[in-house]
Amino acid sequence: MLKKDRVARPIFNITPFTLLDYPGHTACILWFAGCNMRCLYCYNPQIVTGKGKLYLEQALDFIYSRRTLLDGVVLSGGECTLHSDLIPLTKIIKTFGLKIKIDTNGALPSRINELLEEKLIDYVALDFKSLPKNFQHITGSNLFEQFETTLLLLMGSNVEFEVRTTVHSELIDREEVKRMVSYLEKIGYKGVYYIQQFRNDAETIGKMGSSSTLQDLRSLSTPNIEVVDR
Ligand code: SF4
Repeated sequence: MLKKDRVARPIFNITPFTLLDYPGHTACILWFAGCNMRCLYCYNPQIVTGKGKLYLEQALDFIYSRRTLLDGVVLSGGECTLHSDLIPLTKIIKTFGLKIKIDTNGALPSRINELLEEKLIDYVALDFKSLPKNFQHITGSNLFEQFETTLLLLMGSNVEFEVRTTVHSELIDREEVKRMVSYLEKIGYKGVYYIQQFRNDAETIGKMGSSSTLQDLRSLSTPNIEVVDR
């Protein structure tokens, strides 16, 4: 059950329909306010630092009304796993017969573990922000170990997931991407590694210069890891 005494409005906004955010599925997106990181290149400063505007009940009413038009719901943000009502929320969404994807920075492995154990999520997009050396600088947090724990949890689960990195050339160059691929190899990850090149037109949390496009990232693929530039 959702907490009865809750007064907070955790949802910043709802995107009613997307074909792009949940691979192969039609979905809506719930944008959760707040985050435990402050990534310099973050595209969503208002969501990260602003207050939510919608109660969970309002979001659920919306999802219920669209349940026959959608395949799934994307829980994004901000960082959706920070919200204590995430577990009951996902349980209710599941009763609508919808799939659930979460976008996460991986900083709260205990919540991810709960979602996995209770079989409440169908797909996870996990941000691999950086290697430990630059993690604090890029994310304004010291949460690499938590990210790594989440990655290992997902690797040990049956839930489909992707690992992805946003690259701004001032922060991560091609050689660094190569080192990040090596890290993934070393930890035993097998699969696709998505690189998302920074979009220069976006408003960001940090003051960022223009990012140059990193070239020929696909050639950094290994027998176990396919590097995909998207
Ligand atoms: S990019 Fe960073 S600051 Fe922005 S929502 Fe994601 S984890 Fe939070």
